[in-house]
Amino acid sequence: MDVSHILDSLNARQREAVSAENAPLLIQAGAGSGKTRVLTHRIAWLNQVVGLSPFGILAVTFTNKAAGEMRARVEELLGMSVASMWVGTFHGLSHRFLRMHWKEAGLPQGFQILDSEDQKRMVQRSIRGLGLDESHWPPRTAMWYINAKKDDGLRADHIRDEGDPTEQQMIEIYKAYETACNLAGAVDFAELLLRTLETLRNNEALLQHYRQRFQHILVDEFQDTNAIQYAWLRLLAGDSGYVFAVGDDDQSIYGWRGARVENILNFSDHFPDTKTIRLEQNYRSTSTILNAANALIENNSNRLGKNLWTDIGEGELITFYSAYNEGDEAKFVVERVMEHVAGGGQRAECAILYRSNAQSRVLEEELFRHAVPYRVYGGMRFFERMEIKDALAYMRLLSLPEDDISFERVVNQPPRGIGDKTISQIRNVAREAGVSLWHACAEILSANALKGRAATAVGNFMKLIIKLRADTKDLALDKLVEQTIKDTGLLEHYQKDRSEKGEARVENLQELIGAAGMPVETPQDTPDISELDAFLANAALEAGEQQGNEFDDCVQLMTMHSAKGLEFPLVFITGMEQGLFPSQRSIEESGIEEERRLCYVGITRAQQKLTLSMAEHRRLYGRDHFNTTSKFISEIPAELMMEIRPRLNVSRPMPSPVRRQSIREDNTTGLSVGQRVMHAKFGEGTVTDYEGQGAHARVYVNFEEAGPKWLVMAYAKLEIMNVA
Ligand code: ATP
Ligand code: MG
Repeated sequence: MDVSHILDSLNARQREAVSAENAPLLIQAGAGSGKTRVLTHRIAWLNQVVGLSPFGILAVTFTNKAAGEMRARVEELLGMSVASMWVGTFHGLSHRFLRMHWKEAGLPQGFQILDSEDQKRMVQRSIRGLGLDESHWPPRTAMWYINAKKDDGLRADHIRDEGDPTEQQMIEIYKAYETACNLAGAVDFAELLLRTLETLRNNEALLQHYRQRFQHILVDEFQDTNAIQYAWLRLLAGDSGYVFAVGDDDQSIYGWRGARVENILNFSDHFPDTKTIRLEQNYRSTSTILNAANALIENNSNRLGKNLWTDIGEGELITFYSAYNEGDEAKFVVERVMEHVAGGGQRAECAILYRSNAQSRVLEEELFRHAVPYRVYGGMRFFERMEIKDALAYMRLLSLPEDDISFERVVNQPPRGIGDKTISQIRNVAREAGVSLWHACAEILSANALKGRAATAVGNFMKLIIKLRADTKDLALDKLVEQTIKDTGLLEHYQKDRSEKGEARVENLQELIGAAGMPVETPQDTPDISELDAFLANAALEAGEQQGNEFDDCVQLMTMHSAKGLEFPLVFITGMEQGLFPSQRSIEESGIEEERRLCYVGITRAQQKLTLSMAEHRRLYGRDHFNTTSKFISEIPAELMMEIRPRLNVSRPMPSPVRRQSIREDNTTGLSVGQRVMHAKFGEGTVTDYEGQGAHARVYVNFEEAGPKWLVMAYAKLEIMNVA
């Protein structure tokens, strides 16, 4: 058989991995060394050479986007459709499994997925239901607790409190939350995995079926699997399955969510006769970029260690820009993007990365101002917007009126005279009778337990849902959405809001009709899931990945976490500030090594040109921050970087070691280096540097208490102190 199309474009070690005999395989290699490529080619090999049907292949990747790309690549290699192949995220695949085996899993057929906002509300309800004070038991903390336990495979009943009263209370909240979820037929993200694992564990016949079927299991980004994901893999693989895992310990960035790098170290203990292959050639980045990444990551002590090289050539120096503030930073970045496009480049070749989602807003505004199309991955996602969640909640109620979360969300949205008092009355009846809010309503109404207007309002709400359900039963999905947002009054409600925000909300609702008109991917093996349920599940699982048009030429904005596995010719990493990246929390809690790995991930996304930037003054979360340069900048060899000073547009190689050294002009600040000054907020300090003129004149002051800061003379109101 001619296998050249599978092997030709690979180096010797990659070929060895792709064509290995049946055995557990661990590929442990650095960024851009072709791990994902090898995994894809392995699937083609298994099919064409070993003769395995796509039906027998299970491949796990990290995002839905990566799964889509993988499927497309395999289809290209094989020249046929592989829709029956199970490729997706742990969550996506578990969801698929539960849809098929809802009975065995003890779930209602139309079970709904709670995204994190829904989940928070459900936890909040449970806390209130227990009569606890939310300020002592914040829902978000309880939610983290529950998710962490589920990620460790633990139900409330399994946890031992060791006499700790806080833990005892958390366990009670967890229990109440479990009951509420079961009642509503709702499943959160962590539950998808746990429920799948338990269903397989408790059902020998089912387990044997899947073990037989999936003899080959392939896992990308293996370094980021957590305990439950790993348990899931081991259970499915059993003693005779072959796991093909690829990963890079230096890119482990989900420790905070329970990921365990040790899974790489322990792999060969758990899977006997494991063959380990290392790949060392990087095919992605210039040597400048790769050397910067290698130098940075060497500062970590906990590493397996590796040696990555590239023959792509040196390429351009890395640019480092330190801006006055976040607006200036955004301006600089967007100008570079526009230059790239003006020179004939694509917008989609540019990725702007940041540490936290909140940083995207300023960048978005700047892109918007210059009419540069862009797409944000993650963050405030389309399906997480208020109006969209309202519409989806109505649609969920149509599918399952017992869905309490959705019920609560829209029972008085738009306002229809059902006040908090009525709602808490409904809640109480529901809790006492152990029924859903929907059923509680029916009971209250038939017992005439509500007075006048409240009774009419609740009755009308129920009629609305029942009628809409009947009216939309046979409609195509987009028509269903259209009728839902009209008949429920949602559209009119947002139309009344004449502000720009209101307009955007109306547009978003219209966009939702459009989204519902697109074909929804229904897993082939779960044909009995309704189009509506498939759409709702997609909305919860793939939030953000559907927005905009993936094929438009847009600048890509995302956090460094979501950039994992991707590559772009031009990469901008913004916010290179101590306290932001590395984050303050990581500095305080000695999580700096994970932050450094995240920086390594960010840098190694770049193929040709890397630009790093910081803002000395940043307004974030409504607070002012005065920042020094990220420690990570000083860990990149100076000769690989070129610093550009704000506004002056002067560029020069970085001095070594990296040190703030301004381009001097006439000193118009009236201050000299060494001068003692006093600032109203920061106290006493010494001037160590100055730059700029007129309105831009700035001084660098080393404050005794507050540390070193750049200040704009025009605003700083420094008092000159006489040295005794
Ligand atoms: P990451 O650690 O970031 O996930 P990776 O190890 O999965 O990276 P890939 O994304 O598979 O790396 O490959 C990086 C780039 O190098 C891709 O563009 C890929 O097509 C290319 N590449 C990989 N191997 C080869 C090869 N043998 N010849 C040419 N190009 C290659
Ligand atoms: Mg990869």
